Amino acid sequence: MAMNNNTSALSQTQFPEQETAAGFVSLLGDLEQAPRAYRVEVAETKRALERWVCDARLREDYAKDPAAALRRFDLKLTPAQLHPLIDRETALALNDAIARGDTDAFPSSVLRYRAFIREKIRHRQNHRLENEPHHPRLAKWWWRQMYRLAGEVGVVKADRIVHAPLSIELTRGCSVHCWFCALRASKLEEIWPYSDANARLWREVLDVLGGVIGPTAARHGFLYWATEPLDHPDYERFLVDFHDAYGGCPQTTTAKPTADVERTRRLLRLSLSLGGHIDRFSILSLSMLDQVHRSFTAEELLRVELLPQNREADDHHKKANIGRAQDHETKRAGELSTGSSASTTACVSGFLLNMVDRRVQLITPCAASDDWPLGFRILQEATFDSAPQLADVIDSMIDRQMPATLELRDPVRLRPNQRIKLAENGDLHLVSQLSFPISGQPQPQRLMALLTDGAQTVAELVETRLEEAGVEPERTLLLLHELFEKGILLEPPRHDP
Ligand code: SF4
Repeated sequence: MAMNNNTSALSQTQFPEQETAAGFVSLLGDLEQAPRAYRVEVAETKRALERWVCDARLREDYAKDPAAALRRFDLKLTPAQLHPLIDRETALALNDAIARGDTDAFPSSVLRYRAFIREKIRHRQNHRLENEPHHPRLAKWWWRQMYRLAGEVGVVKADRIVHAPLSIELTRGCSVHCWFCALRASKLEEIWPYSDANARLWREVLDVLGGVIGPTAARHGFLYWATEPLDHPDYERFLVDFHDAYGGCPQTTTAKPTADVERTRRLLRLSLSLGGHIDRFSILSLSMLDQVHRSFTAEELLRVELLPQNREADDHHKKANIGRAQDHETKRAGELSTGSSASTTACVSGFLLNMVDRRVQLITPCAASDDWPLGFRILQEATFDSAPQLADVIDSMIDRQMPATLELRDPVRLRPNQRIKLAENGDLHLVSQLSFPISGQPQPQRLMALLTDGAQTVAELVETRLEEAGVEPERTLLLLHELFEKGILLEPPRHDP
């Protein structure tokens, strides 16, 4: 998928809210409305930062002579324009200045660039909320996966994951074969041609998915996973059909931006014309960065994020040690993240389709583990020959994997990563990455044991709490319901109808 296997990104910096005050121009809306000089200023700032994070030579040279280093790399910035964006102390001073409303000492390019980053962060947050599917049971399940993942990997890591409801592969395998591929993409074997018959099926498939997910959420899907979109010669035609079906342009992330520069340029223009917001290039080597910067102007790449996957990228852009990266953990240890292993780079809670194999999987991100080494769970999988068959399969997945609520016969079991501890004030606290206090329950120690043992059904636990602690059944049911909705309890699978 040419996915971002980095564990950090520039956009994770925390910025004060005041930053998006009047005077700044939106760069994710209609670009024609933004003055050209403004666009260029932000684009050149972005370009300099791309060189900064990818190229150790610039970082070394800058330490000796900032102005000469910027000249050497042909960057159209002064040190005063770059420094607040790369130096922590200066960035904190800028935060204070923004909070005081006194930013005269800082160049406009810095303030405008930060406003752009803030706009992108807001866009991502809104994007995630728009991903809530339309089908009520699917929507509840989707929320539970959001909470569950935050419990597994922590809210900071989980915040980067948008839980897109849909991803569709148009080829089997990927031609790029990155050493760090978190999805262990296989070699490119087959392409699903855009023939008349396939195009018909494609549009019917989009209809089925749109009916379940809803067009607003479906438009945030994308057309690659363990595949490279530009491996497909007709990728753009699928993209246009997708836009016709859902009214939005899916994001493209490619690791082959320079394989055919004119094609990539046309794709970026197509994406803009269809209302696309952000596309992404994976930068696999310094020479690729050089070529990208030579082939595209800074302004052309204003809405294209460059993902620093090259060896010389700075320490904030280590790769997650997931998937194929694990095969290289000794040789390329310096490029891999050494932080907590509770990590994932997967970003779909919903349906993953492969059109070559006519396969659909229900997937959701999880902390990579021996059971799920690629950082996502496959809850159910099926094949289909036609759109009606796909509709049936999806219905069955919703019936089987997405209980609307806990039933009395369901076992009450905490997810494996959950533990509970008793606080001094008698409250129970979930000791997971997601904090969830349980207060005011009589005999809390006993309740903790019942939840931890996982030996009782809902009906039995309600009965036990009534008998032992005099807790009204409604109160226990409410508590269990809340734990379930927050993704803290294991989801009981239903049988096929
Ligand atoms: S091998 Fe293919 S799918 Fe995997 S990260 Fe590279 S480009 Fe993406």
